[in-house]
Amino acid sequence: MRVLLVEDDPMIGEAVHGALMEVSYAVDWVKDGQTACEVFSGQEYDLVLLDLGLPGMDGLDVLNLLRAGNNRVPLLVITARDGVG
Ligand SMILES: [Mg+2]
Repeated sequence: MRVLLVEDDPMIGEAVHGALMEVSYAVDWVKDGQTACEVFSGQEYDLVLLDLGLPGMDGLDVLNLLRAGNNRVPLLVITARDGVG
């Protein structure tokens, strides 16, 4: 199972990355949307875990670009909000 983790928060990223590595998933961790889009063109993934709040290009832009390019990779949005509204 090859997973792409797109997460800029080091604490969340390390926790998720560590948990996936523990169950022997191959995990690529990138920390911004632009890099995520670059790695999609060179690598196929079984699953993408996508944060929405990313520096530069945000997660929704990444998702839209991916689907516009007809990439149907399964994707979970794993964004954190610490407030309402
Ligand atoms: Mg974030």
